[in-house]
Amino acid sequence: MNIPPPVRADDKYRDLLREVHSREDIPETWKDTPIESFMMAQNFGWPIAATGKVELLIATCIEFRYSLPIPKMYAYVIRRASGRVIGSEFSVGYTLSQGVRYLIIIGHNDCGMSKVYEKAPLVVQAFMDQGWEKEAAEEYVKKQVTRHAISDELEALHEEYLRLRSVFRKLVIAPLFVCLHDSKLYIPSWLSQTQDEQATNGTVPNELIRTLP
Ligand SMILES: [Zn+2]
Repeated sequence: MNIPPPVRADDKYRDLLREVHSREDIPETWKDTPIESFMMAQNFGWPIAATGKVELLIATCIEFRYSLPIPKMYAYVIRRASGRVIGSEFSVGYTLSQGVRYLIIIGHNDCGMSKVYEKAPLVVQAFMDQGWEKEAAEEYVKKQVTRHAISDELEALHEEYLRLRSVFRKLVIAPLFVCLHDSKLYIPSWLSQTQDEQATNGTVPNELIRTLP
């Protein structure tokens, strides 16, 4: 199995990710929320006590090298390629109707969706092996690859974070980045610049809603 090196050792991430050494490194707005409990469980092995009151939704990649450290009765979970929620807004809305108030979106290094163009022929073949005709499989994969591809994992997380804040204006959204090497969570450095700009009032433009896939 291919486990990438720690992001800490990668120059690419040096100034882009903040380490979480202790509870003090967690932003104030996340303290005493399920976001904090999740981060403490992931980075320090603190046990999570499920209260039965589920207020957290976690969205992350389908990646098999990462598993969530949560018990049952603690969180709703959406797992999709790249971890972006786009196309699953109804699922988010449903969880909101059930009492969710916090969303954690987790990006990770070495994501397959950053290399999906080069993997597309294999995906086409996989569909053909399921009985799809070549032309139909190619057309489908071409369309989906465009939707699913990301150029950079951390940048894609940033874009999705900003997009989600404009669609879900009352939800507290925590963008996190997990290192596949040791499953430690990091906080993107750009978060401190964008934290206070969320439009919590006003109407979400109809046009934005209609363009959701
Ligand atoms: Zn991934």
